[in-house]
Amino acid sequence: MKMIGIFGGTFDPVHYGHLRPVQEVCDDLDLDEVRWIPCGLPPHRDPPKASAQDRLEMLSLAVKGNASFVVDTREVDRNGPSYMVDTLESLRHDFPDESLVLILGQDAFNSLPEWHRWQEILQLAHIVVCTRPGSELASSGQLVELVSERGTQDISRLKDEKAGVIYMHDVIQLPISSTQIRDLCLQGKSHRYLLPLAVNEYIQTNGLYQKDR
Ligand code: ATP
Repeated sequence: MKMIGIFGGTFDPVHYGHLRPVQEVCDDLDLDEVRWIPCGLPPHRDPPKASAQDRLEMLSLAVKGNASFVVDTREVDRNGPSYMVDTLESLRHDFPDESLVLILGQDAFNSLPEWHRWQEILQLAHIVVCTRPGSELASSGQLVELVSERGTQDISRLKDEKAGVIYMHDVIQLPISSTQIRDLCLQGKSHRYLLPLAVNEYIQTNGLYQKDR
């Protein structure tokens, strides 16, 4: 069975803390592709600072030349809040017979019980949780129960089944966040080497994340 990775985010802007962990998941799980899905209107946080068009442009620049990474515009093309469950239903429609692998950073996974119709997510996809500096799995609660019921260390289940298991994956620890990059811009400081050079240049050329915008 083919395995399609799904990586959603605000990507405001995309940085190496997104790119490197997802590359590792892609390699280690032997994914056929990873679909990068920038959200339109994030339901659980402030609206993005950069426009959807700018975030898409930056993402396209970041993944250029990587044959396994695909930019998927379905959330920015849709009206209303970007609920992951709707996105997964639409992906399941497009890929009825494939394994869908939703990749989440640990902090995003920790917020899962706040997501719209979150209990349906594992009916539609597997979840791979990437370790992230500063975030750990809570020691009790709904997610711990979920991980004990659905967690596996057997990677082959992600390929043999279309959805339904949780796999925790250690990735390189890069304590980079989009917030930190936006703050550096506001302070007029350099954000070089935290994100791909082409994205760095796009931010500068278009004056993104500055005070008067
Ligand atoms: P912000 O600082 O604006 O909240 P962010 O850097 O957390 O943004 P998002 O676009 O919100 O980035 O995150 C998208 C996904 O990437 C989430 O699943 C998040 O957990 C994961 N992620 C972001 N940064 C890292 C990192 N440094 N290491 C591992 N995972 C990360």
